[in-house]
Amino acid sequence: MENTGKPDDKLSNFSAFQAKEHKCPKCNSIIYSRRNALCGACGEKLPPELLFSPAEREVVEQELRDAKSHRRHAEPSAIDNVDFGGGGIL
Ligand SMILES: [Zn+2]
Repeated sequence: MENTGKPDDKLSNFSAFQAKEHKCPKCNSIIYSRRNALCGACGEKLPPELLFSPAEREVVEQELRDAKSHRRHAEPSAIDNVDFGGGGIL
C-alpha cells in the first residue's frame, strides 16, 4: 500500500481497479490465467485465493468444452432420456 498523503479520486479509482487484478505474490506479475496453479513468469506456486474455485473452474472448463465441440447442442428432453446403463451412445 502506498500512501502519498494526497487523497486523489483518480488514484483511489485506479487502486480499486488494480485490486481486481491478480498478481503473483513473488514477482508481482499479473496472473492472466487463474486456471494455472503456478505463476507463468516465475513458476511460484500461487495461493488458492488467486485461483479459480473448483466451482468456477468447472464452469470455465464446461465453457471450453462447449466452445471446442461445435456439435449441435443436445436438447434438455434428450438429456433426460439418456440412460447411462446401456444407451449405446458412446
Ligand atoms: Zn511470479
